[in-house]
Amino acid sequence: MSLKNYQYNAIMRGYDERQSASRAVLSARQKEIEQNLPAYAALQQQIIENSMAYARAALLGADSADAEKLRKQNEELSQKKEALLLAHGYPADYLAPVYTCPDCKDTGMIGEERCHCFKQAVVDLLYAQSGLASVLEEENFNTFSFDYYNDTVTDPKTKLTPRQNIQRIYDTCQSFVKNFDTQFNNLLFYGNSGLGKTFLSHCIAGELLGTAHTVLYLTAYELFDILGKAMYHDDEEFAASGEHILDCDLLIIDDLGTELANAFTLSRLSLCINERFINRRSTIISTNFGVQELADHYGERNFSRIFSSYTPLRFFGEDIRIKKKVESA
Ligand SMILES: [Zn+2]
Repeated sequence: MSLKNYQYNAIMRGYDERQSASRAVLSARQKEIEQNLPAYAALQQQIIENSMAYARAALLGADSADAEKLRKQNEELSQKKEALLLAHGYPADYLAPVYTCPDCKDTGMIGEERCHCFKQAVVDLLYAQSGLASVLEEENFNTFSFDYYNDTVTDPKTKLTPRQNIQRIYDTCQSFVKNFDTQFNNLLFYGNSGLGKTFLSHCIAGELLGTAHTVLYLTAYELFDILGKAMYHDDEEFAASGEHILDCDLLIIDDLGTELANAFTLSRLSLCINERFINRRSTIISTNFGVQELADHYGERNFSRIFSSYTPLRFFGEDIRIKKKVESA
């Protein structure tokens, strides 16, 4: 996981906001108690005076019995404050600082280490920026169903039924995730639409985002749009999204073939795929094209690069979206 400056800044802004929100809550509560419980303020004042007396005594080298007496008094006063709050229906810690994360007091750090809430903030940010937050709740490895795939008719080429085939693909996707940090791999999902290509790419995205990997999911149409614009844009976030395409941990290009292609976009695609390959950044391409169509559309050179450095996974069978619709109707 590598965060961009703007991503890091967004997370730190979140901490600033939490801290000032918590200060605002606390000061409103202090005002409320001041007004409703004047006795509380009197106790508080006594604690302050005792503490000053304690500090003076320490400076003058007073004996430890006196210091101990003051400390005890303060302890009792604090207990009285708590009792007063409780007696008036407030929680005992009503005037303690309010932290979203008490472990790091909303700073994101515990000593030199990043707090667990920082890591969670990274995951949340990555989810939000992946553009997949809502769909991943429904489409993940746990909700994937093999039942929609025919298990009686065999494919003449592979001698597998669509269900056997999808099980093999599902396993490949799971090992792709499992070995993501140790083995560099790329996947090519190809075959007719409505066979679960997008669903499975969502499954992979969800798993990797959950372990704080940077995942970018784009339709080919969106990808070409960004690649085309990023060059001319001054906006930091926009330029970063162009850069992000090249260096995110996983790039998913969905529906390759539906983009508006011309010589320029094709050379961009080639550049993008090459650059990611050289830097060992994984890519998943999904397309409704068959092998021959891919070769015709993207040219022999692009095609052979993709086909040789990606694990090709062919989806076949009947469109399962129709079966899903019938079932839910
Ligand atoms: Zn924390």
